[in-house]
Amino acid sequence: MPAEIHAFRCLSDNIGVLIRDPASGACAAIDAPEEEAILAALDARGWRLTDILVTHRHADHVAGVPGLKARFGCRVVAPAKAGDAVPGADERVREGDRVRVGGLEAEVWETPGHCDDHVSYWFSGEGALFAGDTLFTLGCGRVLEGPMEALWASLQRIAALPGNTQVYSGHDYVLSNGRFALMADPGNAALEARVAEAEAAKAEGRFLVPSTLAQEHATNPFLRAGEPALARSVEREGAPAVEVFKALREWKNRA
Ligand SMILES: [Zn+2]
Repeated sequence: MPAEIHAFRCLSDNIGVLIRDPASGACAAIDAPEEEAILAALDARGWRLTDILVTHRHADHVAGVPGLKARFGCRVVAPAKAGDAVPGADERVREGDRVRVGGLEAEVWETPGHCDDHVSYWFSGEGALFAGDTLFTLGCGRVLEGPMEALWASLQRIAALPGNTQVYSGHDYVLSNGRFALMADPGNAALEARVAEAEAAKAEGRFLVPSTLAQEHATNPFLRAGEPALARSVEREGAPAVEVFKALREWKNRA
């Protein structure tokens, strides 16, 4: 039986995700931005929370952990590098560790750049990547702890996964990401279509998570830093892709 995955809005722009193994009933939340929204999502489906897999220590990803743990007694899996910053952590994971959710299994990837402790959870059997604040639909995370090269390396690693990988990110920033992407990559027809799709989705109360990696390769300026068109728009023609990426990230910070 395939895993059941449900993504929903939390707080103002966070995305909560539940992944459930129907055979065992085990169900994990990827991050816990908001207890109430996660409870509502569980109740609507009759699911019971058994695990929380935390991508990084920021408050908007862990605020719901204590309440959910008190209610369900669920296991809390957190990045080892977050130290004691994740409340209620039961298990601390590092690069290459495996985390089971019932019969489902995720590999832990350390994906620093947004912050030092950031990890992503790769469910290869489901073709689903939970990327937290590393890769967003049409964008990428801010580099808060850096260096820029660390986020670039994390993105390059994600970019090498199969094109049909379903990427679940931690925020819905798609409209502002889309506005920037259109400036950085003008004339990209796939991007124009994707932004139109994002606007239509927004009007219907939906959002474009998950996205596939193939869609991001075609439209996300931060994954397209190796393309001449992107180098041109930051006046770095002929420069290595990482330099173009840095210039794009700095531009987006100001945009
Ligand atoms: Zn964050």
